[in-house]
Amino acid sequence: MPTPAERQVLIRVSVCAVCRTDLHIVSGELGEPKLPLTIGHMIVGHVEAAGERAHRFEPGARIGVPWLGQVDETCRFCRRGLENLCVNARFTGYDVDGGYAEYCVADERFCFSLPESYEDVHAAPLLCAGLIGYRALRLAGDAQRLGLYGFGDSAHIIAQVARYQGRRVFALTSPGDTKKQEFARSLGAEWAGDSLTPPPEPLDAALIFAPVGALVPAALKALDPGGVVVCAGIHMSDIPSFSYDLLWMERQIRSVANLTRRDGEELLQIAPKVPVHTEVKPYPLAEANTALDDLAHGRFEGAAVLTVAS
Ligand SMILES: [Zn+2]
Ligand SMILES: [Zn+2]
Repeated sequence: MPTPAERQVLIRVSVCAVCRTDLHIVSGELGEPKLPLTIGHMIVGHVEAAGERAHRFEPGARIGVPWLGQVDETCRFCRRGLENLCVNARFTGYDVDGGYAEYCVADERFCFSLPESYEDVHAAPLLCAGLIGYRALRLAGDAQRLGLYGFGDSAHIIAQVARYQGRRVFALTSPGDTKKQEFARSLGAEWAGDSLTPPPEPLDAALIFAPVGALVPAALKALDPGGVVVCAGIHMSDIPSFSYDLLWMERQIRSVANLTRRDGEELLQIAPKVPVHTEVKPYPLAEANTALDDLAHGRFEGAAVLTVAS
């Protein structure tokens, strides 16, 4: 049972959604996790106790804990509103223990109140799949024709938000994955097909959620002049070399790193208005390894969620 520090709350975990980042951490693809480590950064739970200076939430309040666990608020990035790039940032389930657990602690300043209309299991995927996806969507600017590469937990949420904003959605999946393509159409994609085949119209932005570097040149090929490719994952296989022609005409490639609290507040306000429905596959906490394995092999639609409290 962890003890909350000054600005932390002790949380009785109800559910924790499973992120692709968790897979990258357990398979050693990310630099320097704290060890030993409890992973998990899409936590929904109830406040059980609070540190001396933690007064933001009432005892028993339901809150959500995201990937961004702490920042210094003073570095050159924080001062420019880019706390997602903070040089001293600490991340949930990476630098501090996360939510694959019955209890965890979190800095209250980085927790969110959750929209009441969402049950715990349906709220959890909003906390990273939703938030990082939302930041990627923001970086797509006013793109009308939006390509989503990899139709998993993030894309299935962002497709709904994008449709709500009046954008046109094109979904691109692994070649032959007709199940995911069907799923994408059911959430408002006007076209769904194979990622290596260009969509019927050029795209204004392509968001890449799959950790596959080869999708970068494929997405560039699908872009209209002036368009942007946004890589939304924390890890990706190497990007193959490609002809400068693909980048020419002011096309751009960029990544998305982490989230700001503003991204979180905004998405959690929009989600119930859409309303975003999250497709979830629940697993008991003891089956966490099965959930990770099923994620690695694309065995479910939407997001896996570990259910902790009975
Ligand atoms: Zn995540
Ligand atoms: Zn900072």
